[in-house]
Amino acid sequence: MDLALTYEQQAVRNTVRDFVRKEVMPLEAEVLRRERRGLPGLEQSELRELQQRAKAFGFWGLDTPTEYGGMGLPAVDQSLVWTETGRSFVPFRFGGSADNILYHANDEQRAEYLLPTIAGDRISCFAITEPGAGSDAANIRMTARRDGDDWVLNGEKVFITGGNEADFAIVVAVTDPDIGARGGSTAFLVDRERGWTSEFIQTMGEGGPASLVFDNVRVPHRNVLGEVGQGFELGMKWIGKGRYAIPSQGLGIAERALEMAIEYANTRETFGRPIGTNQAIQWMIADSEVEVEAARGLVLRAAWTVDQGRDPRHSSAAAKLFGAGMVNRVVDRVLQIHGGMGYTRELPIERWYRQVRLFRIFEGTDEMLRLIISRDLLRGYTRVGDQLG
Ligand SMILES: Cc1cc2nc3c(=O)[nH]c(=O)nc-3n(C[C@H](O)[C@H](O)[C@H](O)COP(=O)(O)OP(=O)(O)OC[C@H]3O[C@@H](n4cnc5c(N)ncnc54)[C@H](O)[C@@H]3O)c2cc1C
Repeated sequence: MDLALTYEQQAVRNTVRDFVRKEVMPLEAEVLRRERRGLPGLEQSELRELQQRAKAFGFWGLDTPTEYGGMGLPAVDQSLVWTETGRSFVPFRFGGSADNILYHANDEQRAEYLLPTIAGDRISCFAITEPGAGSDAANIRMTARRDGDDWVLNGEKVFITGGNEADFAIVVAVTDPDIGARGGSTAFLVDRERGWTSEFIQTMGEGGPASLVFDNVRVPHRNVLGEVGQGFELGMKWIGKGRYAIPSQGLGIAERALEMAIEYANTRETFGRPIGTNQAIQWMIADSEVEVEAARGLVLRAAWTVDQGRDPRHSSAAAKLFGAGMVNRVVDRVLQIHGGMGYTRELPIERWYRQVRLFRIFEGTDEMLRLIISRDLLRGYTRVGDQLG
């Protein structure tokens, strides 16, 4: 067993680390200033410019197959990259990627949706959640009724990331109410011009998702993504990816926050000596370090499972459950170590505190992940201690 990164993996990680340090972190002060005024941290044009600069570094389309001009990186390498970008709170992500399920597009859709999304010329959002169907996604009620060569969509989607910016949505709607969402729902590619509307939802985080309303929105049959009846399956595939991407980012946030706490513990003095000389502070640092490394093990194992071509559902659920909890606990301790300063908007800690709370909710709540993990064990799909093969 070799737990060390390969030479190539180290090169990927180090290149991204350099890029983030040189090109992304210098923007942090300005991002905080803008967000304090209620403005987006980065304008879309600034994000695109940064992405082009990253492209010059060779980083473009991390998960995009090489035949589409991407890097086609293995999941472990992608996880390492997300950890590095997670170290900065600047809302940056590498360009050149599209939703994993857009690869189910046919030739015509590929030209109209997939390729322009990879190029950054079109912006997508993915919509399955509804007011009455979040964890219980199979309870979606949005309907798509066949009418000649078209489908007519009616219903509402909520909490859709990028829903206010997207120019097309990948929407899952029920096409056969007798079967229900599992087997009776379908994914559609729906341009905003076809008539859906969106409204921004204010959250405790920066930016925010949107609700989308479909009122007799007409879509031609050629806009069905994948097969009729495959919508729920595609939805679960989309969500599956986030289950190791989110805790990978959480690792980067926790690492950076913990480094800040160590620096502060060594320099902030009370009663004539650094606060880091107190066991109370030392234990918070020690517990955080142990949890970061435990999460790293789970996250990399989940990514490795993907690369092995094995079913990553169990390992990804464990990685997201522990990773999301870990980063919440670490950021909370780091805030505590900084005392009153940690609570101010001078530092990014309160921002992380608000941001990472989401990690325990979206793309599988803690409770749903526990449900998956325990169900796998109770039904014998996975055996205790059987994760390394
Ligand atoms: C900022 C943000 C971005 C999002 N982005 C997207 C997106 O891009 N696309 C999209 O489709 N969706 C998106 N979502 C939706 C997200 O996936 C859902 O919010 C999430 O799945 C939880 O659903 P819910 O909010 O309806 O909570 P509910 O399902 O109503 O759950 C409420 C509480 O009950 C618990 N619970 C529910 N069922 C059980 C059970 N059986 N056992 C024990 N506990 C249970 C839950 O864990 C939770 O604590 C986003 C959400 C947010 C907040």
